[in-house]
Order: sequence, then structure tokens, then C-alpha cells
Amino acid sequence: MADTTLMTIPGQVDPVPVARDITPREDGRIDLIGLPRLRIRDLFAEAGLDPRQAKLRSKQVFHWLYHRGVTEFDAMTDISKNMRPWLTERFVIGRPNVSEAQHSNDGTRKWLLKTDDGHEFEMVFIPDADRGTLCVSSQVGCTLNCTFCHTGTMRLVRNLTPGEIVGQVMLARDALGEWPKGKMDFGFADDESEEAQAEYRADGRLLTNIVMMGMGEPLYNFEHVRDALKLVMDGEGLALSRRRITLSTSGVIPMMERCAAEIGVNLAVSLHAVTKPVRDEIVPLNKKYGIEDLLQACADYPKASNARRITFEYVMLKDKNDSDADAHELVRLIKHYDLPAKVNLIPFNPWPGADYECSDPDRIRAFSNIIFDAGISAPVRTPRGRDIDAACGQLKTSAQKKSRAERDREAAAASD
Ligand code: SAH
Ligand code: SF4
Repeated sequence: MADTTLMTIPGQVDPVPVARDITPREDGRIDLIGLPRLRIRDLFAEAGLDPRQAKLRSKQVFHWLYHRGVTEFDAMTDISKNMRPWLTERFVIGRPNVSEAQHSNDGTRKWLLKTDDGHEFEMVFIPDADRGTLCVSSQVGCTLNCTFCHTGTMRLVRNLTPGEIVGQVMLARDALGEWPKGKMDFGFADDESEEAQAEYRADGRLLTNIVMMGMGEPLYNFEHVRDALKLVMDGEGLALSRRRITLSTSGVIPMMERCAAEIGVNLAVSLHAVTKPVRDEIVPLNKKYGIEDLLQACADYPKASNARRITFEYVMLKDKNDSDADAHELVRLIKHYDLPAKVNLIPFNPWPGADYECSDPDRIRAFSNIIFDAGISAPVRTPRGRDIDAACGQLKTSAQKKSRAERDREAAAASD
């Protein structure tokens, strides 16, 4: 694995190798994508600009990066012609490398991406009538080994950098052709070209929502996910409202409070079971952070974050977690903790070698009805992009798969 440091994080596999926040490049230049505005200013100053210039140039560059999506300093028409090569010598504007792009017959798109040091991860775009959702990865693989999840069987795990995380959103905008064209009118444009005089437009976008539900456990890569989402929410950055962003966690309780305070996006919690034995089996992290504590942390989340409600994700596994009694217990728990909650029922997406089957449609409907009858919304999510293995839990690159024995050993070690 390339240049990494170790960061102590709560969890059963501890520590996880954490990439530096900037992946070093062979040519020595620094990739600006993923860096906060003030860091860019400081880098410009360190490279020799006086403080006033560093401030002005960083503001201009930041705007070109995130509002216009340019990938060349030469395209920054309000920056003087001799300044542009100076920037090009020292900095780059990166994107994740695309190994493969696939299009499902239902419109879903999946990209297999690669970091500069050769790790593969995936991102998925799901278009709907009224919205377009980008499913973003936070790690290469996942250490948590949920038994129904394909990503959890990947041997290799590395946290993604803020640049690699926000880079997914940038790349999706590139692919969807969603950067506004025309004049960037914020005070210091000195460009007379036709393109610069055209109207600046940013409406009617396809990509409207972001879910941190790709590969990995985002709360095991908290700081990088936070820094990336700050750029996504920054009014001068990608300017997406935090109401349109959802972070999904399998229940890393110690990080949920920080998520509320420091990111404040909507939270989805992968509950998947209502009893200790079943959740211990399918979400092994439950042995460390149990259901009661998790639900209490969920009850605290909206107060601390201003998010309106929590979404519980519940994967429907035949004869495992899908009985009427399970549904009634789920309702009881939600009421007991007085949770402003919605439940998303996810039909299990099978993958080769998985030990589970999806519940029958009638069973899923009956389960959903019990929850709806108690006044709690419980829609059944339609699997999307199954033909290109882009559906929930199917994300797994060609990286080597762990053996069943290895997974059992890790699950046993986690319960110690
Ligand atoms: N690690 C985070 C986010 C990524 S997983 C988490 O677990 O919440 C995104 C969602 O897909 C989770 O709810 C996860 O439980 C679900 N999922 C994983 N494998 C699945 C499968 N095979 N079928 C259906 N949903 C699955
Ligand atoms: Fe990791 Fe989420 Fe998959 Fe569990 S469901 S293994 S936490 S990605």
C-alpha cells in the first residue's frame, strides 16, 4: 500500500490504514481537489505569492474548481496569462481515474474508479423522475464484514482521501455534463471571450442528491468524509444543501455525535435486525455497539444536527429477520425511543457465494404493512442497476475476496 499513516479509530479492526489527506504524486505537484479554501491559500503563499495575491488567487481558483469544474488552469480566464503556467507547474486539478464505466438498462450508471496509487472503488448514479442520486464510496472495501454484503468480503481496505471522495462528485458532474457554462460574474472577470459573456446557469441539474452508501463505512473515515462533504455543502463550493445528503452507517456509535455536530447531514442507520442474536450474526459490529445504545444515539442525533428524521435501513433476508414478530418489535423499538423515523426495506441483492436469500415479495409486503399500520413510513426500495451489479451491497471490485474461513475467524475475533 502506498504512503499511509495509522489513525486510531473506534472499532473492531483497529487501526485501519489511513491514506494521507493528499496522495503524494510522482511529479511532486499537489492536487488541489479536496483541500479546504484556506489550505489552498496557504499553499499559494508557501509557493511564493504575497498574502493579498494568495487570498485573491485562491478565491478565484476555488470558484473555478467547484463552480465551473475546470480541470486545467489554462481555462481560468480571469487569471492572468503568465500566472496560469505558474500554477500548472506546481498544482494539478485531479479526478479519480476511470477504469470502467457501465450503463444499466434502467438508466443506472456505475463507474469503477482507481486511486493514483492503484486501489479500485466504485460509484453509482441512480436517476429517478424527480431526482438523481449519486452513491459515493468512502473506503476501498470495508472492515466490518456484514455477512450479507459483498463489499465486506474485500480483502483490501484503505480509507479514501477527501479529494478522492469529493472527486467522485466532480467526476459525476463531468460525466453528466452538469457544469454551468458562461460568465463567472463575481467581480474580477477580465475576460472578453464569447463564452465568458454567456449567461451563467446552474439550474436543472440531474445530480441532486448524494448518499454515502457506496463502498465502506463512512464513520470509520470520519475526518476525510467530513472534509469532503464540507466542500460539497460549501456555498462557494458545490453548494449542495445538506438536506440532500445522507450518510449511512452500520452503527459506529462514538462517531455519530461528531457526525451530527461537524457534518449535520441526514443519517441512515443500517439496523437490519431487532434482536441481539440476529444482529450479532449479520452486522458483527453489533457485538461492540448493541441495539439499545444505537437507538439511543439515533434519538439524540436530530437534536444535535437539525436533521428532521432518521432513516433505518432493513435488508430483507428470508427466514432470518423478516417475520411478523420482527416487524412488531421494530415498531415497538421506534416508539419506545420516540424516534422520528422512516424505514427503508431493501430486498436482499444476491451475489455469488452469499449465504442468504431475499424474502418473498408477499413477506416483504406483509412486513411493510405492519410498520405502515403503526404510522411509520416503510417503503420497499426497488433494486436498481442489478444487471451491472450496481445495486446495494453488490459493490465489490476485482480485488481478492476473503475466504469464508477468514471471515469466520474475523467475526470470532470481533466478539472477544
Ligand atoms: N457501510 C455503510 C454504508 C454502505 S452499505 C452501512 O452499512 O450503512 C449501504 C447499504 O446497503 C447498507 O444499508 C447495507 O446494509 C446495504 N446492503 C449491503 N449489502 C446488501 C445486499 N446484498 N443487499 C441489499 N442491501 C445491502
Ligand atoms: Fe461495510 Fe456497510 Fe457492507 Fe457492512 S453493509 S460490510 S458496514 S459496507
